Amino acid sequence: MSRANLPEAQSLSLWHAVARSRRDRPPLEGRLDVDLAIVGAGFTGLSTALHAAEKGISVAILEAEIIAWGATGRNAGFVVPNFAKMDPSTILAHLGPERGERLIDFAAASADLVFDLIERHRIDCDAVQNGWIQPAHSAAAFEKVKSRAGQWADRGRPAVTLDSVSVQELTGIRGYVGGWMDRSGGVLDPVAYARGLADAAEKCGARIFEHSRVTAIEQATQGWVLKTPSGSMRAGKVLIATNAYGAGLNPVLDRTYFPLRIFQIATAPLPLGIRSRLLPGGQGVGDTRRNLLTFRFDRENRLISGGMHVVGAGADTRVPKAIWRRLATHLELPDIPPLEYAWSGIAAVEPDFLPRLINVGPGLLAGFACNGRGIAMTTATGKALGEWANGTDAVDLPLPFAPPSPMSFHNVVRYAPNVLLAWGILRDRLEWTR
Ligand SMILES: Cc1cc2nc3c(=O)[nH]c(=O)nc-3n(C[C@H](O)[C@H](O)[C@H](O)COP(=O)(O)OP(=O)(O)OC[C@H]3O[C@@H](n4cnc5c(N)ncnc54)[C@H](O)[C@@H]3O)c2cc1C
Repeated sequence: MSRANLPEAQSLSLWHAVARSRRDRPPLEGRLDVDLAIVGAGFTGLSTALHAAEKGISVAILEAEIIAWGATGRNAGFVVPNFAKMDPSTILAHLGPERGERLIDFAAASADLVFDLIERHRIDCDAVQNGWIQPAHSAAAFEKVKSRAGQWADRGRPAVTLDSVSVQELTGIRGYVGGWMDRSGGVLDPVAYARGLADAAEKCGARIFEHSRVTAIEQATQGWVLKTPSGSMRAGKVLIATNAYGAGLNPVLDRTYFPLRIFQIATAPLPLGIRSRLLPGGQGVGDTRRNLLTFRFDRENRLISGGMHVVGAGADTRVPKAIWRRLATHLELPDIPPLEYAWSGIAAVEPDFLPRLINVGPGLLAGFACNGRGIAMTTATGKALGEWANGTDAVDLPLPFAPPSPMSFHNVVRYAPNVLLAWGILRDRLEWTR
């Protein structure tokens, strides 16, 4: 975050800085008994709490910092109802017909679920369901996205293939070979959405404790006991929803994913004359590059973009400037307004890029649904976990479900995405012909 002198919470991201007033939740003091305890108040924990509380289940969230402190408060706000690396055909090959079909249906409906919840609970979060566009940066990438759009359209989804002229009309950018759009996707303000989920969950009876870091989860005669510095909570079932921010709570879980640092920037608001030639429909855009180029506007017409970069010394100042320069070049904006906000977050990238539930112990699950599709997938995961809290076996939920599978030599292989990225950036450059 580049703005000096902001209070700590506001310095986490653009969304925290511009958020409307924040209501503090107290830390847990003393002892509490609940049916379901949730560790982490990001989208996964909040959506699970809401869906469980709606069923009359007693549920409480323990959050180490504040609501949306993790990736939930630091992302780009794209609502994307598909998979980062796989298409329906590859999901079926990977998971088999039965589990594959269930996961495909789960993902397909995930953006609609987000926008339905926003409407049902009147969440004021600048949500726009105008579509998510994936332009193709090369001829080979266009062949892939044509197949992708066709597969989702065959399943009744509002997916359309776009030729290069349509991509230019929709985005204002020259040079893409074509692309596709899922009209059920869109954009929102993630902090406002998370706070809205929290308010809705509390209205249904859920309790949320901030500044309540869980330091241990111990098995008890019936269920589990969670310890925090000033209290303890006994629960029949526990969900660990700490994403890549678990910091040693469960060291085995920490070794099941690649922690990938992603940077985000926002410019000062664009003058209307320039704004009107870019993204007139207000959609979200994420292209097919390995180091994908993303962009959208917020309600003040700030241009928001992000990227994964090979990090190293000085990354906090070097990388945001590189993303800003890339944006100016690709959007042909010599008069791009200055960088106003810069921040970063950690994504938990699974080896197969799919969401999953991890069976940590009897009645103890961990949920990971990130991989750049986290807003839609985590919200849908929370709905599924509400069913689990209500008695459905985890194996019958639509997500992949397995014991922890820690990676060998994780201390070394955890850097693999960054190393591969350098090669990916080079290939992106060679393939882009404009
Ligand atoms: C920079 C960036 C951009 C992204 N952009 C997009 C996007 O545009 N669209 C999209 O769909 N997805 C995007 N994602 C992914 C998306 O943000 C995540 O998938 C999603 O927010 C994960 O939510 P979560 O609830 O699982 O985890 P988090 O939001 O990370 O929440 C985990 C919470 O657990 C808490 N916690 C950790 N340890 C403890 C403990 N011991 N006790 C109590 N609490 C604890 C943390 O404080 C944190 O609040 C992006 C991710 C990043 C990093």
